[in-house]
Amino acid sequence: MDLLNTLVDKGLRRETPTRAEALAVLATSDDDLLDVVAAAGKVRRHWFGRRVKLNYLVNLKSGLCPEDCSYCSQRLGSRADILKYTWLKPDQASRAAAAGLSGGAKRVCLVASGRGPTDRDVDRVSDTIKAIKEQNEGVEVCACLGLLSDGQAERLREAGADAYNHNLNTSEATYGDITTTHTYADRVDTVRKAHAAGLSACSGLIAGMGESDEDLVDVVFSLRELDPDSVPVNFLIPMEGTPLAKEWHLTPRRCLRVLAMVRFVCPDAEVRIAGGREVHLRTMQPLALHLANSIFLGDYLTSEGQAGRADLEMIADAGFEVEETGRVTLPEHRAGGGCGSHEGAGTCGTATADSCGGAPEEPRTDLVAVRRRGAGTDLAPNA
Ligand code: SF4
Repeated sequence: MDLLNTLVDKGLRRETPTRAEALAVLATSDDDLLDVVAAAGKVRRHWFGRRVKLNYLVNLKSGLCPEDCSYCSQRLGSRADILKYTWLKPDQASRAAAAGLSGGAKRVCLVASGRGPTDRDVDRVSDTIKAIKEQNEGVEVCACLGLLSDGQAERLREAGADAYNHNLNTSEATYGDITTTHTYADRVDTVRKAHAAGLSACSGLIAGMGESDEDLVDVVFSLRELDPDSVPVNFLIPMEGTPLAKEWHLTPRRCLRVLAMVRFVCPDAEVRIAGGREVHLRTMQPLALHLANSIFLGDYLTSEGQAGRADLEMIADAGFEVEETGRVTLPEHRAGGGCGSHEGAGTCGTATADSCGGAPEEPRTDLVAVRRRGAGTDLAPNA
């Protein structure tokens, strides 16, 4: 297919595809899907070989957020029956991180619910970062604490943070439909602050929230412009008790097309499959490894993932290898410094073959499990 040859050529040269080309990827048929995966897989292997980076989430503070992000089970007014707890102490967070690292993760992502950290919160997280770094040589630490005020990114960097995550989540045009308590511009500002402080910027999206193909392409092109080093791709988990609880529109094939589009637009960025991997990709997860070079091991912030051991087996069975600690993830031209929410999580707004057209597929609500183990509980974590 001419489209795919063009996209591979551009991806190998780090050249931005046109919006029409990105939209065409989302509109491909099921008959063409394996060709799309193979083409995007060439770009993935060119920049990242067959390596899969494992990341581990530690939810430092869960629930009770004053913000109203519609996709989030921790939002203001959420009736989701999730774990709710205040700040983990540094040694508790460090123990949780150690479980993920011993399971094969090389990056720990420290996440806290809330609009953004106070200076006192930055102190707490700084102590936690130091504790984790002291006890785990070579570990990468990413903080995800919401909107940053002036100077906070610099303080996190000084404390040893390697990266900061703050997702754009959706297009500027639809942002106000998803959240009213802060703006798209606020989010862009925080990604820029992180970048300016020398933190590796991590910023991505949530697919499946009712956005159109144009919206998805818009947010991915905005990410390319911001140039984060890593781009987490969440697939909405429509949690009971949240406004988007009925938005079940994603299919495994749609998810593969979204990942392929992100790979073509951000060819040399760490594309990370985030929340919703098990719920929406299901048996297609191994194919997604040909597109993304990074996943989360174990559980998510408020929902459970598949067993850590199953992740490792999947990677080996598909012929990929877990990226070792000490191995630089990014291609050489990026490794010195940065295409890239908080909560990983749909409605589709278009008539692609797998999402809106054809027979509707049954929502797999049976695959959604609220997290009841790991950080904030007395039970062993999944790692
Ligand atoms: S995504 Fe973050 S800011 Fe938004 S409601 Fe959830 S925890 Fe709060």
